[in-house]
Amino acid sequence: MGKVLIIGAGGVGRVVAHKCAQLPSVFTDITLASRTLSKCEQIRAEIKERAQREINVAQVDADNVPELTALIKRIKPDLVINVALPYQDLSIMDACLEAGVNYLDTANYEPKDVAHFEYSWQWAYNGRFKAKGLMAVLGSGFDPGVSNVFCAYAQKHLFDEINYIDILDCNAGSHGHPFATNFNPEINIREVTQVVRHWENGKWIETPPIIDQGSVHFSFDYPIVGPKESYLLYHEELESLAKNIKGLKRIRFWMTFSENYLTHLRVMQNIGITRIDEVEYDGKKIVPIKFLKTLLPDPATLGTNYTGKTVIGNVMTGIKDGKRRSVYIYNVCDHAESFKEVGAQAISYTTGVPAMIGAMMMLTGKWKGSGVFNMEQLDPDPFMDALSKYGLPWQQSEFDGDLPG
Ligand code: NDP
Repeated sequence: MGKVLIIGAGGVGRVVAHKCAQLPSVFTDITLASRTLSKCEQIRAEIKERAQREINVAQVDADNVPELTALIKRIKPDLVINVALPYQDLSIMDACLEAGVNYLDTANYEPKDVAHFEYSWQWAYNGRFKAKGLMAVLGSGFDPGVSNVFCAYAQKHLFDEINYIDILDCNAGSHGHPFATNFNPEINIREVTQVVRHWENGKWIETPPIIDQGSVHFSFDYPIVGPKESYLLYHEELESLAKNIKGLKRIRFWMTFSENYLTHLRVMQNIGITRIDEVEYDGKKIVPIKFLKTLLPDPATLGTNYTGKTVIGNVMTGIKDGKRRSVYIYNVCDHAESFKEVGAQAISYTTGVPAMIGAMMMLTGKWKGSGVFNMEQLDPDPFMDALSKYGLPWQQSEFDGDLPG
């Protein structure tokens, strides 16, 4: 039914390739391309062994638009799934426009030299995708991604108006390393050291970064894993949901961090090894955070000894038939089970499965359109059905727990 080109052979790329390979009736032809060919070849060998399927592999520098356009024109996919890094979003969108192919990603654009991400750069492509009759779907991971779809589902079926959204992301797993990040270390550290923002009554409210005195945090009682300290954090889906959910008064994002993680991060920040600007070392220019990345465990290899679970979901409060109601929708995912199925830990799994499902929605015509879309703008129903079917079953309950006012 559909030919896909997956770009990026990291932790998430591995999951997307495996999950697409498990569904030959939808993904009839798969090519995995990345900067390092050997990583694609390793995933190809694993897929041959586990799913008895052949996929194609290619080497590409996705920062190089002409090189990437030539690859896309040679392969002629129906869809490009971008699971490289946020730095490549615009060059991959440019190549898709040039080659006339649909696009999907899991994280919004971020320039290499500024630790700042926002949708405006990618929303600016709306007119060009529309004019070519092409579809670009942004942020089809878990958060952003499933977190947006939970909002769309709640808006469609559970509320007349949603007033408050709290997205709560808990990783209660243990990988056994003194310090590691669960996805690309550079992107992860840039994200979590930022000034925090949430949206309230039409305005962005700033609070201190998670490692600072005065950061906002509280203990949330998560299903299955129990109470965990959860920190207010800025996350990209806040920007699109604040725009697209009607009646919204406040939206916040919370993530759990252990004291051990925060202590490591504080020390790294204080000694300057998380810096993103160039410094002179031994006659050469180096970027400290890139050097740090080479020292830290590769998130794609963390799965081997990972135990425990992730619990990610939304508490949404609003009005239904004149009455106030609070609903909690969430998924629980197990690190060891994810590793058993596709050789990856649960953070990669909870990102890669929704990327595969978003791709499936586009290839099967359940999601159609011209232009650039965030996930909450598309029909949540077939996506929610697919989540349960393909590895990320969700639970829904009335919420009577506590959240900060
Ligand atoms: P990794 O660093 O493990 O993988 C990234 C891959 O992209 C690597 O294989 C890398 O190649 C490749 N790559 C980087 N630059 C280029 C380039 N110029 N050309 C071609 N390939 C390139 O990251 P993850 O798999 O952990 O994350 C992938 C994406 O998923 C990121 O954008 C991340 O932000 C996003 N994400 C989204 C989440 C969500 O819930 N929405 C959650 C977690 C992650 P090489 O191997 O040579 O370095």
